[in-house]
Amino acid sequence: MLQLAIIGGGVAGLSAAIYAARYGIECKIFEQKSIGGQIVVSANVENYPGVPGPISGFDLIQNFEKQVKNLNIPTEYKQCVNIQKNSEGKILSFDDGSRVEAKAVIIATGASPRRLNAKNEAKFIGRGISFCATCDGFFFKGKNVAVVGGGDSAIDEALFLSKIVNKIYIIHRRDQLRASKILQEKAFSTTNIEFLWSTVVESVNGDNKVESLTLKSTKDGSVSELKIDGVFIYIGLIPASKDFCPPVLDDKQGYIISDSKMATNIEGIFVAGDVRLSPLKQLITAAADGAIAADSANRYLMGLE
Ligand code: NAP
Repeated sequence: MLQLAIIGGGVAGLSAAIYAARYGIECKIFEQKSIGGQIVVSANVENYPGVPGPISGFDLIQNFEKQVKNLNIPTEYKQCVNIQKNSEGKILSFDDGSRVEAKAVIIATGASPRRLNAKNEAKFIGRGISFCATCDGFFFKGKNVAVVGGGDSAIDEALFLSKIVNKIYIIHRRDQLRASKILQEKAFSTTNIEFLWSTVVESVNGDNKVESLTLKSTKDGSVSELKIDGVFIYIGLIPASKDFCPPVLDDKQGYIISDSKMATNIEGIFVAGDVRLSPLKQLITAAADGAIAADSANRYLMGLE
């Protein structure tokens, strides 16, 4: 039986693996696609302390991966579809029909930003389309950008961008925001934010980078073109938890609930990174979660809990 199974090879999972290996825990990473998670698509990372950059998400993850390889931590590429607990430990089932038994598990499966499903969206991700103003806002200094969404994230990030960019168009599919009143009031009184109500993005246009959006009114169906340099999409995140998860999820969005030691309600199952219910989802918080989860797993395996 494996001592520790880490599900997910993003920043949280890789950080957990690095810490676990240094505790002498026999662990293995199970990753469904490829190592790296969400950060791989980020063109430039400048806010990860100790790495002044600019460095691409891809290059940064290569360093994480190198560190994991140096510690001889194995990775298996398959998707976990179920976790069950028995008296000995946990049984993980995978999409290829295989099963793995582990004494402890760290779930670090992340979350993915919900996509617009607009025409050309995939082509421009990392080339004008971003899902992270904190990471990429600086690259649009003095430019005109659009933020899509009407929730707290869209408004929060638009307020953050308003101090960097020239002008922001907030594109929302309804004529009322979902965001909290206090954020709404701040946005309404910010002079370089303009709202485009009852509007959806039909297509993203440009040659090598975003140059304009084709917009459609949800009221009368009229179509217009908006010239912009970048688009920040905040229409919700989808945590990778629901399909296989036995720990308790928050009933609003499906994030895994944990305590400050990253312990879930199930003994021996810990959680780290964007799949966890938490107030900030950044590289640094994912890495910190991974370290704490590995430490908690170590204490659990040593019978110290
Ligand atoms: P959210 O609250 O689910 O809002 C998503 C927004 O995107 C909504 O306005 C929704 O429109 C819109 N939307 C969804 N699907 C769309 C689509 N296909 N096309 C166009 N628009 C679409 O997500 P969130 O803003 O990421 O927030 C997630 C959670 O984190 C929330 O509980 C939020 O309160 C919390 N949060 C809090 C703060 C804070 O307190 N400062 C900051 C960030 C996030 P409709 O309104 O029409 O449904």
